[in-house]
Amino acid sequence: MGFDVDVLRRDFPILERTVDSGARLVYLDSGATTQKPLQVLDAERDFYLTHNAAVHRGAHQLAGEATEAYEGARGTVARFVGASADEIVFTRNTTEGINLVAYALGNARRLGPGDRIVVTQMEHHANLVPWQQLAERTGATLDWFGLTDDGRLDLTRIDELLDERTKVLAVTHQSNVLGTLNPVRELADRAHEFGTLVVVDGAQSVPHRPVDVRELGADFLAFSGHKMLGPNGVGVLWGRRELLADLPPFLTGGSMIEVVEMDRTTFLPPPQRFEAGVPMTSQAVGLAAAVEYLEALGMAEVAAYEERLTARALELLGEVPGVRIVGPAGLTDRGSAVSFTVDGIHPHDVGQVLDERGVAVRVGHHCARPIVKRYGIPATTRASFYVYNTPDEVDALVAGVRAAQQYFGG
Ligand code: PMP
Repeated sequence: MGFDVDVLRRDFPILERTVDSGARLVYLDSGATTQKPLQVLDAERDFYLTHNAAVHRGAHQLAGEATEAYEGARGTVARFVGASADEIVFTRNTTEGINLVAYALGNARRLGPGDRIVVTQMEHHANLVPWQQLAERTGATLDWFGLTDDGRLDLTRIDELLDERTKVLAVTHQSNVLGTLNPVRELADRAHEFGTLVVVDGAQSVPHRPVDVRELGADFLAFSGHKMLGPNGVGVLWGRRELLADLPPFLTGGSMIEVVEMDRTTFLPPPQRFEAGVPMTSQAVGLAAAVEYLEALGMAEVAAYEERLTARALELLGEVPGVRIVGPAGLTDRGSAVSFTVDGIHPHDVGQVLDERGVAVRVGHHCARPIVKRYGIPATTRASFYVYNTPDEVDALVAGVRAAQQYFGG
């Protein structure tokens, strides 16, 4: 293992707290949002204490420093995913990044009746609803890859779904519910044979494994700072330079214009074209600190460490009678979100017993309702791990599930 988790945990004071029952917090909800290390909090605080100003405005020293900090953060994020800085657009989060692409494509009138948008049945609502809406606005049709019983994409209809009518393929890199890691490269190469734009939801992959946009082979990649140790309120949209250059804006206003007349406006080139208004500067600076933190750990080490935790969870949960993993039961091509059901006990009841014991998990449909529908279940309990979790915490999860069974007589 490349890092010492006991040392690392000192950077996350929140992990030392207890909950109302007196139990120590066991935070297994990083798929929803991650905790933030002191380094990230310090970077944000330092920005406000010493450099705060509106970026790209005003010819004074602080504005220059703020701009430098903001553009420096863009460079750091670009390096993290193997991109160039001018291909990195700061957004609020993954949701906004995907909406940006969907709205810009609609504004550019790139789709119409007879065209198709293809998604998958394992998408988070953030990578489904914007495409439903775009289909509605443009008259294009929406179709999707279904799921196999073991939580993978069912690619049997690939020839039918990907052809010259398909203008957009929107797919998640890693499922927030099933944990499944999808074969994005293979899908993107196929889609590109037909000139299809490939939009990837990286909310659950970029924080957890090495991701290089050139190797990924997609056209757009969206992710969120708050899921990778960074602040809330900042996300990233990467897009291929020539594609971004060809897209009209999504939001319009200050900071993204070239020349404004009373009756018309010209726009700046990307990324500024897509960053209307004063941006989230301290958050971008905090995100850069998060990226540096992850780089110091090494993303390959991060992935390997999470895999150990996931292996333990899959093995120990697999030994509990009545527990069913929803998603790939093995470690191949999967990440560290582990969803499961417990026979005879509603996931909300499982969650409640776990909460009482300090174990924070998420229960519900996890903003991906079509998945639970596909598997004929009302909801799942999901544990999701990150760099600060320990094997003991996996054990606490499993002990909590057994306690729920005892309590509810499952
Ligand atoms: N996609 C996936 C796979 C996610 O897990 C999430 C967050 N749960 C999102 C998109 C949306 O992220 P955000 O709320 O940060 O926009």
